[in-house]
Amino acid sequence: MRSTLRGVRLILLGVRGSTPAPGADFVRYGGHTSCVAVVPDGSDTPSLVLDAGTGLRDLTPRLGGQPYRGSILVSHLHWDHVQGLPFFIAGDRPDAQVDLYVPAQNGRTGRDLLAAAMAPPNFPITPEGLQGSWTFTALDSGYHVIEGFRIRATEVRHKGGRTFGYRISDDTGSMAYVPDHVISGGIDNEVRDLIHDVDVLLHDAQFVESERRLADAYAHSTVDDAVNLARECGVRHLVLFHHGPARTDEALDAIASSFTKGTITAAAQGDVIDVRRG
Ligand SMILES: [Zn+2]
Ligand SMILES: [Zn+2]
Repeated sequence: MRSTLRGVRLILLGVRGSTPAPGADFVRYGGHTSCVAVVPDGSDTPSLVLDAGTGLRDLTPRLGGQPYRGSILVSHLHWDHVQGLPFFIAGDRPDAQVDLYVPAQNGRTGRDLLAAAMAPPNFPITPEGLQGSWTFTALDSGYHVIEGFRIRATEVRHKGGRTFGYRISDDTGSMAYVPDHVISGGIDNEVRDLIHDVDVLLHDAQFVESERRLADAYAHSTVDDAVNLARECGVRHLVLFHHGPARTDEALDAIASSFTKGTITAAAQGDVIDVRRG
């Protein structure tokens, strides 16, 4: 559907890391795991989704009864980034058309990489059990064009399998999506380049400085890591993302209020973020 809205918009459908966080202390920032819908310039309908965490379930009611026709870029295969996939009703119907990409690794097909977690006895169905027309691609790092966006996929340091950060741009603006990334051991130049000068960066901020030992052990970033990286790379708007599942609304309010609003914000489920170059 055409829209008079200009520029790319991001709909944050899930902002947690590790595991969903239901409960009264998590209502405002939301409990779903990582998932972001990308609405192209001049459209009302997302054609690209970043990660398939449990937040993917919330895309279905936003499509107004229509099937999903578009792509899903998965940063890596940890549960919190793929578990929404079999519960995505708009993508699991005969008229759905979905191209899913996962980071290439170990010479395996995209289907087989996904089926390592999504197949009996771990789950009732395999990837081809999804209705509609699905493709599963093992994506190489480098430059791609997907759904009309210029996409750069760059390997980032994390733990347990290959992880990509993505830079997504069109003529109206640019954003980078790096939900899981450990910084304390050093930042690769390719990663600086991936993030350099973007309008919006969604970055891992799972831990705070007092939890540094855990951040390093689990290969994640702290809020300070994300802030320093964003400043160094000239990011215009940093969105702290992939909050720890125990981080309450109150704790996230305290983090968010320590920064200038509009420049550094804490991701909240349901937020719509304008990527357009200011
Ligand atoms: Zn994660
Ligand atoms: Zn991870």
